[in-house]
Amino acid sequence: MTKPPVSTIRRDRQTPPVRGRLHALAGRARRPRRIAMLSVHTSPLHQPGTGDAGGMNVYIVELAKRLAALGIEIEVFTRATSSELPPTVELAPGVLVRHVTAGPYEGLIKEDLPAQLCAFTHGVLRTEAGHRPGHYDLVHSHYWLSGQVGWLAAQRWGVPLVHTMHTMAKVKNAALAEGDTPEPAARVIGETQVVEAADRLIANTVDEAAELATHYGARGEQLAVVHPGVNLEVFRPGDRRAARERLGLPLDAMVLLFAGRIQPLKAPDVLLKAVAVLLARRPELRERLVVPVVGGPSGTGLAKPQSLQKLAAQLGIGDVVRFHPPVGQLELAEWYRAATVLAMPSYSESFGLVALEAQACGTPVVAAAVGGLPVAVRDGETGALVPGHEPEQWARALEPYVTEPELVARQGAAAARHAQGCGWGTSAAATAEVYAGALARPAGLLAGARRRLA
Ligand code: UDP
Repeated sequence: MTKPPVSTIRRDRQTPPVRGRLHALAGRARRPRRIAMLSVHTSPLHQPGTGDAGGMNVYIVELAKRLAALGIEIEVFTRATSSELPPTVELAPGVLVRHVTAGPYEGLIKEDLPAQLCAFTHGVLRTEAGHRPGHYDLVHSHYWLSGQVGWLAAQRWGVPLVHTMHTMAKVKNAALAEGDTPEPAARVIGETQVVEAADRLIANTVDEAAELATHYGARGEQLAVVHPGVNLEVFRPGDRRAARERLGLPLDAMVLLFAGRIQPLKAPDVLLKAVAVLLARRPELRERLVVPVVGGPSGTGLAKPQSLQKLAAQLGIGDVVRFHPPVGQLELAEWYRAATVLAMPSYSESFGLVALEAQACGTPVVAAAVGGLPVAVRDGETGALVPGHEPEQWARALEPYVTEPELVARQGAAAARHAQGCGWGTSAAATAEVYAGALARPAGLLAGARRRLA
């Protein structure tokens, strides 16, 4: 894949000849004061690790908090999923979550949401209309559904649209697990429209920026690369023994951890099959091997929520695999600290936050060499990258971690050092630079229209 010329976090050179409010903004501020952040389909207040809540929720929470600390106020608009929710919740100083009523509260799945975008947009526009003009300096939308709302709101308010895809239909469909359902054509169309409209597209990695260019026609001046981060206060190395005691894990066990949403895309089945291969070859390991799966069903995994449990039984490793519902970040940090190694056999991963989190806790990661994982994990240094999804191959990759404690200690220490450089503060500062660039030199649909008028 050819890498596009990525206009990243550096400041842009000149303010183009634009008119009206956009022009006023361009001349006024390098950084926005207040941002409308859009997260239509999942709330930053939801527990990640199951259903629609995962890395994007963590991303929005962490980014918003760090941007607020930089003096940029954030208001996150999300769809209300219960009538009990208050209209607004202060998530942190400078970060407000606004619940927007759009459609029935409960019972809607993500695939139903395109029908509610008009109602959602109405809620966003009505909120802004209750303030003085210019209340929001910029719109930052997350995932294509929010991009559809952001596109309209940004044009209506005459402010730049910054968009983060998080995942892309074309990329997911190109790497589907066997038998998994592809993303619909309507999503591809929606994503293409958002790419055209956005002033900046924030990609997690250079590869993701290249995918935006190749699959969706994104232009170099729209693209910015900002690596996501890890909360280094929550995810930090600690006493493995103490973590195991707290979690009720045997102190001398070899713990191969899976953490995240249970769906075919994440391939937890590959880990289970690899464990079966490993145990067939080395039956003496059985006594000491524990495979915790922390998380809940999500996406196409919801169709067969018990399939992984059934697979463990079929493979004859039901005694080794332990299923745990999703946990809060503090408890998840304990799981990482307790683990010998974290396994991420995903077919596709726009970044893979759990890989960074585990490393920050001093745990090496064995990951599929897909998406952002080769950026998150340093092959042979902080873990291992596996080029495919064959259980045999995965068994071979995992085996040294259960038999060589010194490898685990060495790579774990390197992993913690590597993660130290990946705090969310750095990501937020880079994102603020992208905002400044979008304000100074918009590059989306609106900018084009204004240039034609000029
Ligand atoms: N997570 C969590 N509790 C759990 C499992 C996962 O809070 O029980 C969080 C985890 O900390 C991580 C996110 O869910 O930040 C998953 O992000 P990732 O990028 O790995 O995957 P995604 O969900 O975006 O596909």
